[in-house]
Amino acid sequence: MSSKICYSDAGRESRPEKPFPESGRGDLPSLNSEGSPRTPTPEELEALGRYSASLEDATPEEIIAWAVRMYFPKLTMATAFGPEGCVILSILAKIDPRVYVFNLDTGYQFKETLELRDRIAEKYGILVDLQRPELSVAEYEAAHGGPVYQSNPDQCCRDRKIAVLHRAARGYHAWMSGIRRDQSPYRAGTPIVGWDKKFGLVKISPLANWNRNDVWSRILEEGIPYNELHDRGYPSIGCWPCTRSVLCGEDERAGRWSGTAKTECGLHISEDEK
Ligand code: SF4
Repeated sequence: MSSKICYSDAGRESRPEKPFPESGRGDLPSLNSEGSPRTPTPEELEALGRYSASLEDATPEEIIAWAVRMYFPKLTMATAFGPEGCVILSILAKIDPRVYVFNLDTGYQFKETLELRDRIAEKYGILVDLQRPELSVAEYEAAHGGPVYQSNPDQCCRDRKIAVLHRAARGYHAWMSGIRRDQSPYRAGTPIVGWDKKFGLVKISPLANWNRNDVWSRILEEGIPYNELHDRGYPSIGCWPCTRSVLCGEDERAGRWSGTAKTECGLHISEDEK
């Protein structure tokens, strides 16, 4: 890692041991249908809350192992190959590399991001599937009279990320993501296990209570492949038109949609927060 990236968080203390729920497959009824997402019952939501509370002090390994026991083969994961996603992939490789992992390949990703997919596959034997929108970039821009990321980035994210995730996750019951609570105010309330109303899935965030130091310590200790753009001042990497490098002292997500009010692509914002 380059010294350009500043770490401000203190190291975390080791967490106390705490029992967490055994899965008992079928313990939680299927929450997603092949069609429109349904509304979970209060009992189901309560169960998710209990699981989340019980896993609050668990390690990412314990959370991911629990998720696999509970939901595989209806468990999936979306990754943009950020440092958190790479850590989760390294853990999945040890626990169960059969979990279906996909990337939302908008057509605007950096070449370094796509190269990282190959390095992950080489190291862990997990070839992350590229899920693409119906229209190529050329077709999409032609249909809208130019780059939509300039005229209406929310629509661009809806068309090239959110719609694709809806399609890719159909038929699954749970998805994992690498978001952390300390990344932004929107993410501060992220539960370890919760209900994702937007996608009609259980959402598991194994790194929710990790901080940036935790993530990078693990990457450096274990030699986990990471996007080389991080060494060039890009702490958070999305599509190239909407990502810039940041200066030391800037927020780690300051380079995303810089100069606009937009801070999230919408994948991790619930319907209630929009
Ligand atoms: S991040 Fe930018 S280019 Fe990527 S989908 Fe969203 S608006 Fe489009």
